[in-house]
Amino acid sequence: MDPIPLHGCTLDELRTLAKTHVPRGFGKARELYQQALVHGRFDPEAIGLGPEAAAAWRAAFSFELPEVIHVVDEEGETGTTAKAVLRTKDGLEIECVRIPMGRGRHTLCISSQVGCKMGCAFCETARLGLLRHLRTDEIVGQVLVARQVLGWDVRNVVLMGMGEALDNYDHVVHAIRIFNDTGGLAMAQSA
Ligand code: SF4
Repeated sequence: MDPIPLHGCTLDELRTLAKTHVPRGFGKARELYQQALVHGRFDPEAIGLGPEAAAAWRAAFSFELPEVIHVVDEEGETGTTAKAVLRTKDGLEIECVRIPMGRGRHTLCISSQVGCKMGCAFCETARLGLLRHLRTDEIVGQVLVARQVLGWDVRNVVLMGMGEALDNYDHVVHAIRIFNDTGGLAMAQSA
């Protein structure tokens, strides 16, 4: 079985999975979840686990984020808009955009699909058609890349990037539960 992406789980889901896949895993799930979701690392030894337990966690779970290809800045009236082009593990490009909201606040606009089937006439993405849905961990991974790799202080998320979010309903709703999970990112449900 392939390792399960840790950032594709809520804390409760991780606990349940850890109980099954890692000996005595339940008790360490919270620390490892926070380490990944809040600090961007998956390092079981750093929380005091020995080699056997660490190996069991690594065999059962993974923590891989999309790769940053490049970032393009554009100056505007309210500040700098920054577009990050990311590469998924299977080599597809997606993008997330940090949008200035004034008073030093930023919103992150993320993608929910690679391409889109909706065919809006004005939209560049429409030309691709729908290549595939993004998985939950790939949707969450964009926020983690923005915060932990690019160092962007983003506290709000909108799903208005590549793709029609409601066409990938299950993964999108799952990702929102992870954004809101107080065991990890703890993003508020309202602005
Ligand atoms: S990404 Fe949005 S604007 Fe573009 S085709 Fe899909 S639904 Fe329309």
